Order: sequence, then C-alpha cells, then structure tokens
Amino acid sequence: MTGVTKRIAMIAHDNRKKDLLDWARFNRGTLVGHELYGTGTTGGLIADELGLEVHRYLSGPLGGDQQVGAAVAEGRLDMIIFFWDPLEPQPHDVDVKALLRVAVVHNCPIACNRATADFLLSSPLMHRAYEPMAAIA
Ligand code: PGA
Repeated sequence: MTGVTKRIAMIAHDNRKKDLLDWARFNRGTLVGHELYGTGTTGGLIADELGLEVHRYLSGPLGGDQQVGAAVAEGRLDMIIFFWDPLEPQPHDVDVKALLRVAVVHNCPIACNRATADFLLSSPLMHRAYEPMAAIA
C-alpha cells in the first residue's frame, strides 16, 4: 500500500541529468517530503546539489536499473522518474527496456519526460494513500 509519503526513484541518462536536476531543484520543496531513491550517479547529484537524502542504488550501467526494477516488482517503490535518452544508445539498453517493462507490468507510475513528471508530482493522488491495481496476471 502506498501511503502519503511516496517512495520515488529517480534515474537520468547522462544527456538528461541536467534536465532531471533542474526538475528536482524546481520541485525540491515537494520532494523533501518523500522517500527518495536514485541510481548511483543521478542519486549522488541530487543529494549533493540539492541537499536531499537519497538512497542510492548502483550506477545504471552496473545494475542500478535492475535494482530499481526489482524494487518495483517487490512493491518497494511507488513511482519512477526516468529521464532516459531517446537519442543515444546505452550500453545497458536491455536493462532500460526491462525496467520500462516491469513498471508497466506492476502498474507503477513512470515519468519519462519533464511534462509527465510535472503532472505526476502535482496529482492530488500525491496527498492520498493509493493502491495501484494488481499487476498484470
Ligand atoms: P546513473 O545511472 O545515475 O548511475 O548515471 C543512470 C542510468 O544510466 O540508468
């Protein structure tokens, strides 16, 4: 059951890190009230630049995306902000695809661009407990 404190994972590929950092800076006041997670480099950047507590997984290419996927599968995350790079192939493309897939399977909200992240964070559901419907059977 996801309560009013959301467990939010943030991931950005290198060309999207500045975008995610800008977004997180703009929304710092909201994010500080939630439990934050991030892949290694992204999480470190957000922690260092914005002074937020971020639980860090491994770096994405070293398995961090898979750790986020496992957390989604086990119901340990409520949403993902995932600024993946649509213009450059990544060494861990298969992990990226797996994470996108597992998020859909488990009906986990996942924002892949800034506008979606804005809609997600400003949703009234951020202030209520919310039980996502069961994973695809
Ligand atoms: P990073 O990983 O935050 O460690 O750079 C992100 C990714 O490439 O998935």
